[in-house]
Amino acid sequence: MTQPLKIYNSLNRQKENFEAIAPPHVGLYVCGPTVYNYVHLGNVRTFLTFDTLFRYLTHMGYKVRYVRNITDVGHLVGDGDEGEDKIGRMAKLEQIEPMEIVQRYTNDFHDVLKQFNLLPPSIEPTATGHLIEQIEAVKDLIAKGLAYESNGSVYFDINQYNQNGNDYGKLSGRVLDELLIETRELEGTAEKRNPLDFAIWKNAAPEHLMQWDSPWGRGFPGWHLECTCMSTKYLGKKFDIHGGGMDLKFPHHECEIAQGTGLNGTAPVRYWMHSNMLTVNGQKMSKSLGNSFLPAELFAGSHPLLEQAYSPMSVRFFMLQSQYRSTLDFSNDALKGAQKAYKRLVNGLKSLKQMVYIPAEITHETDEAGLKVSTPGVEIDVKKVADIEKSVAAFYEAMNDDLNTAVAVAQVFNLLKYINMLYLNQLTPAALGEAGFGLLKEKFVLFFEQILGLQEEKSEGDAVLNGMLELYRTYKAAQAYDKVDEIRTYFKAQGLVIRDMKHRIDWAYEE
Ligand code: AMP
Ligand code: ZN
Repeated sequence: MTQPLKIYNSLNRQKENFEAIAPPHVGLYVCGPTVYNYVHLGNVRTFLTFDTLFRYLTHMGYKVRYVRNITDVGHLVGDGDEGEDKIGRMAKLEQIEPMEIVQRYTNDFHDVLKQFNLLPPSIEPTATGHLIEQIEAVKDLIAKGLAYESNGSVYFDINQYNQNGNDYGKLSGRVLDELLIETRELEGTAEKRNPLDFAIWKNAAPEHLMQWDSPWGRGFPGWHLECTCMSTKYLGKKFDIHGGGMDLKFPHHECEIAQGTGLNGTAPVRYWMHSNMLTVNGQKMSKSLGNSFLPAELFAGSHPLLEQAYSPMSVRFFMLQSQYRSTLDFSNDALKGAQKAYKRLVNGLKSLKQMVYIPAEITHETDEAGLKVSTPGVEIDVKKVADIEKSVAAFYEAMNDDLNTAVAVAQVFNLLKYINMLYLNQLTPAALGEAGFGLLKEKFVLFFEQILGLQEEKSEGDAVLNGMLELYRTYKAAQAYDKVDEIRTYFKAQGLVIRDMKHRIDWAYEE
């Protein structure tokens, strides 16, 4: 590929050429879910963004080590240093082990992402699996004078960090004085030298469910520390890309930068990427606002906000229609449109896969001088071939422009135009030439399946459908039109149509 990939780096607030630290390897870390509840569609959007990045980098030839963690301890209600542990709270409510909560929602998370065809990461580490690393990191930060113990808790010392020449707040653009004004007097604030200092280890009250021994007494790690320890362990002190939702910029990612820089003397991440929020009527979709719905409700259409059921791939397509840095507002109309558009594409894919290149017939004649002249039956339509080549190049250009999937998808639709012409016999493969036809077929399948991660949602009984289609042909030949109509009705009931054309009879998804 000639053009470089450009990535919008949240740290510098500009698009930068992507240059891997140690090509062909790329280290990618994405903050995973806190597994205390079912994942909602907003969460899916963020993970889809990084699935697209993972797929595209891999397609570019990079060997990506993709680390996405599971937060199973330390994330407190309210996202700060006070309040109950989100998982511990659920465990108490249900009177079960915290690890039962963790297992249930980790399973759900995996199931959901699989339904949306998200690839699994290379490593999926858990916070509780890395307690030793976290305790070591706390000790190290204390030894470096960047953290202090207070009442069995350990806090990161922001004033000291900034006095060492660092800039806490750089990523999120926060000014410390303003942050101080915003900070409420909260439980634990009295233990801190500066109200902005954040916990890297918390003292646990006896009734706190998840707690471990440490040099500072029984306690548990602060939420931000796990990501620093796990990213350093698997990707090194400085790695290529760190991603997450926009809402994690502050305080979570800001604190990760402070911890990593404090521990290793280098900013931990080269490119910070943040995916924008999925909104409902302009408001962030979130559990606490009560405007979130679960993927299962979406597939069943069983939520008051939903007018009908939507399939996983139409939802994936809906999300890909916007670039990851723009907000995406949920609406039934937009989803219905996406469902229709996805079906048009998948019908194209289905028919394209059956198409083979047939060279044009060559006619042989003798001219006036008695010499043999060979004429191909079809001339290559150079304009169409050039347009296909242009669309292919434009797809890459869009992906290289900070993963602009909105524009990339439009190029796939331009390619679909030619597939439909071929399908309807308005164009023959020979008119595109072997290279032109080959390019169309190879790139359409590659873009659709590998890079955009879409796939055909196969009906369970493809073989049965093909058998029914055979019957349809037989009845039609016998002019048994009542039977023909019966079969059409059967297909329609499953959201399918029979396409009865002069040159072929086929079934397709109803668009
Ligand atoms: P959590 O489990 O709350 O830590 O969230 C998991 C991921 O989903 C984080 O990267 C969040 O930024 C992201 N997220 C949460 N709500 C939304 C939303 N409405 N739209 C997009 N991403 C979200
Ligand atoms: Zn994180």
